[in-house]
Amino acid sequence: MFYHIITIGCQMNKADSERLAAYLETHGFKPVDKPAEADLVALVTCGVRQMAEDRIYGLVKQIKQDKPTAKVILTGCLSDRPDVQKRLGSKIDLYFNITELPRLAAKLGLEADNGSNAGYLSLQAKYQSAFSAYVPIGNGCNNFCAYCVVPYARGREVYRGHEEILDEVRRLVAHGYKEIILIAQNVNSYKSGDVDFPALLKMVDAIDGDFWLRFATSHPKDLSDKLIDTVAASKKICRHWHIAAQSGDDDILKLMNRKYTAEQFLNLVKKIRANPPAGGPPASVSTDIIVGFPGESEAQFNNSKKLMEQAGFSMAYLAQYSPRPNTTAAKLTDDVSAAEKKQREEELNEILKQTALEFNQKFVGQTVKVLVDEERNGWCLGKNEQFITVKFKAAGLLGKFAQVKIKEAKPFGLNGEYVR
Ligand code: SAM
Ligand code: SF4
Repeated sequence: MFYHIITIGCQMNKADSERLAAYLETHGFKPVDKPAEADLVALVTCGVRQMAEDRIYGLVKQIKQDKPTAKVILTGCLSDRPDVQKRLGSKIDLYFNITELPRLAAKLGLEADNGSNAGYLSLQAKYQSAFSAYVPIGNGCNNFCAYCVVPYARGREVYRGHEEILDEVRRLVAHGYKEIILIAQNVNSYKSGDVDFPALLKMVDAIDGDFWLRFATSHPKDLSDKLIDTVAASKKICRHWHIAAQSGDDDILKLMNRKYTAEQFLNLVKKIRANPPAGGPPASVSTDIIVGFPGESEAQFNNSKKLMEQAGFSMAYLAQYSPRPNTTAAKLTDDVSAAEKKQREEELNEILKQTALEFNQKFVGQTVKVLVDEERNGWCLGKNEQFITVKFKAAGLLGKFAQVKIKEAKPFGLNGEYVR
């Protein structure tokens, strides 16, 4: 029996797919590269924006055309949505919430139901990369931001025990992994007995080995001084912070249920930037911003522009608001036109190009450490600690750290020369 997994969306979905792949393989399935060659096609779906959802409808049609006999199973954000189930109907053989993964074989009729309630994050993963691994530390979200479907799709927050996380990281490091990325919807809410997120980071940081430690994402309302100090004092944690601002306008932030003001957000960024020890590597800050939230006026949008100018982001994931079923914002009128949303996104992108370039210029003339994640025609591509893409001429370095002297800064990358 052959399987193929299609993953749409975020890091969390990618990590889920890695657990799903390992699970299917322990139940006798073998992977194939194309859905048309598979007996079982699994869709790990994203419902964060309408566009991601629409991709699934197209994919299901295509899969059914190419291989009508294939079983198609669907998990992720869309699995529990009655409207999606109605629309896709019998084209999908099984809808299952990813938390039900330990019982998937029973649901597929392959074995008797063992009634397992084991947390699905405790299952083994089949990592896609041989040098960089996502390690989920929890699932779900309690925050209910007004626009967001995640708390409905993934349920309330559940966290993995710290010992289990440490075991997974130790195993990965022993296998030579160079980058560990701890992920959850809001890492700052992590709790395992007395162990909070800064304490967990310290424990992972203390594991012997030559590896980088990253984490995502941090909700600004819960980002503590203790966490900033932990990162500053650590040996392995990269100086890159992904903190979603979503808007720079206090009234919109309130409507979004974000629980901070633009000023509080900017103060946080200031604190993060002030923290690297003198002469140490600068911290980069990236963000998510939504344009065209219901009722967002020109003046309110201008506050997002101001925030972007002041925060000096190295990267920003800009999203045009799209109403999501069941969310509180879906009850508001989606009154910013598509053309206006597009225009606002473009304006923010222009600011981003400026701030990102200014940030990247700090590295010109410096020699930086890079983890190479791609090789193409004699060129290596990788990320530095601040998660900026670095390009340089060399070969045979995939999955390895390299020292690169930076010669040129661009808005979304750095060019350099291989040192060693
Ligand atoms: N938990 C993460 C946080 O708060 O930082 C965010 C996770 S969410 C899946 C990823 C991003 O999608 C959000 O930060 C937001 O910018 C964007 N997003 C979520 N719902 C959206 C919507 N209805 N329309 C447009 N963008 C949306
Ligand atoms: Fe969605 Fe807000 Fe939770 Fe992030 S914190 S997953 S944006 S509800």
